[in-house]
Amino acid sequence: MRVFRGERIFTPGPVEIPERIREVLGRQIIHHRTPEFREAFLEARTLFKRLIGSDSENFVFFASSGTGAMEASVLNFFREGDKVIAVVGGKFGERWSQIGKRWGLEVIDLQLEWGKSVDPERVEDLLRRHPDCRGVLVQMSESSTGAYHDVKALGEITEKRDTLLVVDAITALGVYNIKPEEWGIDILVGGSQKAFLLPPGLSMLWFSEKAKESISGRSYYFNVPEELKKQVDGQTAWTPAISLILGLRESLTILLGAGMEKVEATYRVMAEGVRRAVESIGFRVFPENPVISLTAVEPKGVDPEALRREMLRVGVRVAGGQGKLKGRIIRISHMGHDPVDMVVALSALEMGAVRLGLKIRPGECVGTYTGTLQSML
Ligand SMILES: *Cc1c(COP(=O)(O)O)cnc(C)c1O
Repeated sequence: MRVFRGERIFTPGPVEIPERIREVLGRQIIHHRTPEFREAFLEARTLFKRLIGSDSENFVFFASSGTGAMEASVLNFFREGDKVIAVVGGKFGERWSQIGKRWGLEVIDLQLEWGKSVDPERVEDLLRRHPDCRGVLVQMSESSTGAYHDVKALGEITEKRDTLLVVDAITALGVYNIKPEEWGIDILVGGSQKAFLLPPGLSMLWFSEKAKESISGRSYYFNVPEELKKQVDGQTAWTPAISLILGLRESLTILLGAGMEKVEATYRVMAEGVRRAVESIGFRVFPENPVISLTAVEPKGVDPEALRREMLRVGVRVAGGQGKLKGRIIRISHMGHDPVDMVVALSALEMGAVRLGLKIRPGECVGTYTGTLQSML
């Protein structure tokens, strides 16, 4: 059924890459010890500061996937025996907990039913019972369940304590208009293949002045103090992901050209439309408080994996569930898409559901989406 273009990607990473960025990525490599690279690197840094509304130079880019920057956060800002709370409400929350334990931290798992968002009062209560707790590790957007954690509310709690708020914002940066300084976030982590609309291989780690006090540099490759010294000067400790840095400059130019308020508002419209569309055919939005970067859907009356295969048959790739959600949900990412693109994903969903025997009116799901879009745009 596909003749003119390949698969369309609606997964929460990697995401489709805009033409403007692909052009930059396709160019001949430049050497990193050159004035040209240095200028591009420093420009990417300036744009990154604008993205998060901060003048602080406290951030580094790493040549790694997002998990690398997560591990770097644990290694550089905590020591063996440090007590931390990990909010575990999905696959990525589990990752925080595992990284912490691997490096000898005493991790208190705050277990949530998958799909639920953390109640900030529970965190505050735990911190009262463990005043020596040095960190709270959480996702802003838990991509495995589609749940949103209110990191702004958590920031109000950790700000007045000797506790660092460590936020995996890998599917939130570039989607939400995040202001880490204002919100009391201490460490913020991002990754290129999500809403930065780049291939995988570049990660970002931003940290507060408060976090800087406990910096250790307890890693060779992911050494934040050494990287920072170089990076403020437009250099890197090791060979950087040169093409991705050039791509990042382009991607930040696109995001800031639109303005993060508008980017967030656009994702909100898409998320609302997709939620109403899937509900109109009897499916359930899985998380209680959903993010706007993706929608996790529990199909009713059809098998999620069969539905995913049907969608793939017409050229639309969405993600299935991970871990204990395998076979229970599908995840449709909005990242890198314009509102009208979601019609493609939803028509594949609708056709797949009909082929699997779901009794719905033709156009029900897509029509609900376009109707919602029209009322909101
Ligand atoms: C994608 C993702 C990661 C990082 O995954 P990598 O494969 O290492 O890039 C971490 N946290 C969340 C919430 C993610 O969506």
